[in-house]
Formats: sequence, structure tokens, C-alpha cells
Amino acid sequence: GGFQSLGLSAPVYKGIVRKGYRVPTPIQRKTMPHILAGRDVVAMARTGSGKTAAFLVPLLERLRAHQCNGARALVLSPTRELALQTLDFCRALGRFTDLTVALVLGGDSMERQFSALHSNPDIVVACPGRLLHLLTEMDAKLSKVEILVLDECDRLFELGFQEQLQLLLSRLPTQRQTLLFSATLPQSVAEFARAGLSDPLLVRL
Ligand code: AMP
Repeated sequence: GGFQSLGLSAPVYKGIVRKGYRVPTPIQRKTMPHILAGRDVVAMARTGSGKTAAFLVPLLERLRAHQCNGARALVLSPTRELALQTLDFCRALGRFTDLTVALVLGGDSMERQFSALHSNPDIVVACPGRLLHLLTEMDAKLSKVEILVLDECDRLFELGFQEQLQLLLSRLPTQRQTLLFSATLPQSVAEFARAGLSDPLLVRL
């Protein structure tokens, strides 16, 4: 069960090798094949487990498989720091693909982020508050999203983003793949997963 056995395209595989990854971590081994197959996944995984690549590698691969305009993947992060780190991973792992990524977070000019959204990036990495603000104030659209990732979902909830998440979800296509990564699975997150994901595979370490 190495990275070779996943049947990845050369550009995505090269990104992994360049990043220095040789062997998938346990969370990667347990989630990647299912995410590649298009399944919804709830994964309990902490920072340090390799969770970011666990969702980014299949995400890059799935987006690469066909061309289409508009943001097709949305990664929601609880904090600015995590969003920036995810952006870095995404650029590094995707460096041999022609996929583009935009960042939407607070503290940066709204105008610039709006034009970033409108430049038709394939992937948007965002904090929920600012993204919702952009969508409502500036009528930006996320009608092309095929893959939604909720990263550190327990933290998203702890930081009070639950209501904003519900609003964001209501603006996304219902036909989509949803991946929920969380260190813990409190009742609130479990209920959210039941309502917002479709027959998800639950992965624990
Ligand atoms: P994360 O849990 O996503 O924050 O990743 C923790 C650290 O593990 C990061 O520095 C990653 O670059 C690294 N990492 C992720 N996957 C692998 C892997 N398969 N082999 C070696 N290091 C990895």
C-alpha cells in the first residue's frame, strides 16, 4: 500500500516525491483510496498525522482528471495560520499540475480576494467568516464546488463557525464530495456530519 499503488497521475505523484514523502502515513493509507473513489469521508486525525496530504493528494488528482472553469474544491480552515499552511501544501503538492489555488481570509483586502475568486482558481482555501462575507456582500459564487473539505472541524465549531458553516453549505451544490477532518468527534460535529455528508466512511486511527 505505497503511494504507487494508488494509481495517481505522474504530475501528482511527482509532487509527493518532491515533497519527500516515501510511505503513506496510516491516515493517508486509510482515507486516500476512498477519497479518490469519490466517497464522503469523516476522518478523525490530529495535526501531525499527515491529514493535510491525506485530503490534498486525492483532491488534486480528482480535479486534474477533468477540466472545468470555476472553483471546484473548497477547503475551509478554522484559522489564518492553518489556511496559510494548507495553501503552502497545496502549492507544493500540486506544483507539477496546472491547478491553481486562491486564498480567502480575513485581514486582507476584500477587493483583492474578490478578484482572486473571480480569476477562476480550481481550489479555494478559506476561513469561513471572510468567505461568507465575500459571498453575501459581493455576490461571489461557489456554484461549481465538487469537493468540500472541512479541516479541523472540531476547532471550526469551537471557534463559533457552526452557523456560518451551515450558511456556506446552503450555498454549495448538494451534489458534491464532502470530507470532514477532525481531531475529536463531539456530538455537534457528529450531527453536522450526519446532516451534511452522504453515507460517509468513518476513519479512525
Ligand atoms: P499534517 O498532519 O498534515 O499537519 O502533516 C504533518 C507533517 O507530516 C507535515 O510536515 C507533512 O509534510 C508531513 N507528512 C505528511 N505526509 C507524510 C508522509 N507520507 N511521509 C512523510 N511526511 C509526511
